[in-house]
Amino acid sequence: MKMPKTLNRYCPRCKKKTEQKVKEPSKGKPSSLKRGSKVRMRLRGLWRGIGNQGKYSRMKNQQKNKRKTTKKTNILYTCTVCNKGKYQKQGKRTGKLVIG
Ligand SMILES: [Zn+2]
Repeated sequence: MKMPKTLNRYCPRCKKKTEQKVKEPSKGKPSSLKRGSKVRMRLRGLWRGIGNQGKYSRMKNQQKNKRKTTKKTNILYTCTVCNKGKYQKQGKRTGKLVIG
């Protein structure tokens, strides 16, 4: 989805419509110790040895296949008038957010 660099939106701080910069917030690093992650399973001592390992038996060779190709993108709006109002809003489902 294409987004313009600036948009005229309502700023709750200025209490009127102002020009606001559009930015995609940084996503941060995903934790490798998430629930159900391979690292966590290994640390817990699961997923080792021979024999039936329950639900982890199947996961050994199978990759979790992604079914959804798009995600809801977060958009960060920064007010250019007060420079303090920063608002994040969840946008529409898109594959990639292009600002410019
Ligand atoms: Zn403002």
